Amino acid sequence: MTEGFRGQCLCGAVTFESSSDPMFQANCHCDDCRRSGGSVYASFAFVDETNLKISGDTKTYESLSDAGNTMTRHFCPTCGSHVYHSNSKAPSRLGIRAGLIESADWFQPQANVYASRRLPSTPIDPDIKAFDKMRG
Ligand SMILES: [Zn+2]
Ligand SMILES: [Zn+2]
Repeated sequence: MTEGFRGQCLCGAVTFESSSDPMFQANCHCDDCRRSGGSVYASFAFVDETNLKISGDTKTYESLSDAGNTMTRHFCPTCGSHVYHSNSKAPSRLGIRAGLIESADWFQPQANVYASRRLPSTPIDPDIKAFDKMRG
């Protein structure tokens, strides 16, 4: 991939552009990620907020992680796409839903988080790390 990436929600009202490549890429199999996006797991590309430009208003929903940190999820108020989230433990680290990224052929998760909650039908790559939980 070239440096950086861009993407948008389903309707296009929210767009984003990262000037850097992701610092981390992961799949999450937790119940909250399932519910927030409606798929059986979620894929994220993490970037520092200083490298991410977001255009368009989002609505937010806050919930607590298992460790008691606040997870803030940002959604497009028009089409409902979950665009990104932050965790109060490391608030400058934003997790962008990888499915919203344009030309994301490069996407390669480095870990499966909450692998213990994975649905049996969801295939996972045995060569990457699997965490039963999330530390944050
Ligand atoms: Zn939208
Ligand atoms: Zn999750």
